[in-house]
Amino acid sequence: MLYIGSHVGFKKDSQLLGSVREALSYGANTFMFYTGAPQNTNRYPILDSLTLEAMNLMKENGIDYSKVVVHAPYIINLANDKDPDKFIFSVRFLQEELERCELLGIKSLVLHPGSHVGLGLDTAISNIAKGLNMILGTHDVKILLETMAGKGTEVGSSLEEIKRIIDLVDDKSHIGVCLDTCHLNDAGYDVKTFDSFLDRFDSLIGIDKIGCIHINDSKNTLGAHKDRHENFGFGTIGFDTLVSVVYNERLSQVPKILETPYVDREYPPYKYEIEMIKNKTFDTQLIEKIKEQI
Ligand code: FE
Ligand code: FE
Ligand code: ZN
Repeated sequence: MLYIGSHVGFKKDSQLLGSVREALSYGANTFMFYTGAPQNTNRYPILDSLTLEAMNLMKENGIDYSKVVVHAPYIINLANDKDPDKFIFSVRFLQEELERCELLGIKSLVLHPGSHVGLGLDTAISNIAKGLNMILGTHDVKILLETMAGKGTEVGSSLEEIKRIIDLVDDKSHIGVCLDTCHLNDAGYDVKTFDSFLDRFDSLIGIDKIGCIHINDSKNTLGAHKDRHENFGFGTIGFDTLVSVVYNERLSQVPKILETPYVDREYPPYKYEIEMIKNKTFDTQLIEKIKEQI
């Protein structure tokens, strides 16, 4: 079964119900959302009545809530303990995210490992593990460490770095990995040879640890360490390669999430991209068509 969806909103008044409705409008059968703005930590209380309605709507439409994922805000940085108060704030906020996930029935939380901000890789990795060990297993939610592009001082742009963090985590049953095809490309992993990448992943970390894949094309060349997402098929990775990742049999149980850019920064492309993925046929005019339909 193909689990395909995109990033969707999560608004104060409609919460999970609004997210499910948005996902359904794209023809998706899974989705990902932030529990508030990705760039800040202001959050409002979860309303159980909306969650219940959302659960019913998912059931009616065959959405398996265990495939739905939350993304932690990217200002959380477990790698940085220069300011101990900030580190504790990150840990606490992440703990609250786990609580929110549990209230919403979500089983997976995607997290950027962090940036070492000059502290060096070794310190960063031990800080990340320390933070994770303070909270992992307190809730029935897995934290999925995302593979990063290697922009700035980002940790987690190589499988070896991800493995080092996981090795230091006590509760291995609540840790996993989220691949991001744009990040892999920008980090220097050629997505065109994805199966040999998976072999490498399997021998190093174990393929069963992959809990989510972000399916994005990239605006940049292999190894550029940039992290700029492009619409599906319109970047340097290309349509055929991305489709083969989406339909890779070894990852058939893993949800595939589009984080491709809005057209003209305003119009979500997901309905059209999902259609194209289902048809397995590239539409070179897709972006123009989206603009026309608006
Ligand atoms: Fe991410
Ligand atoms: Fe991503
Ligand atoms: Zn990215």
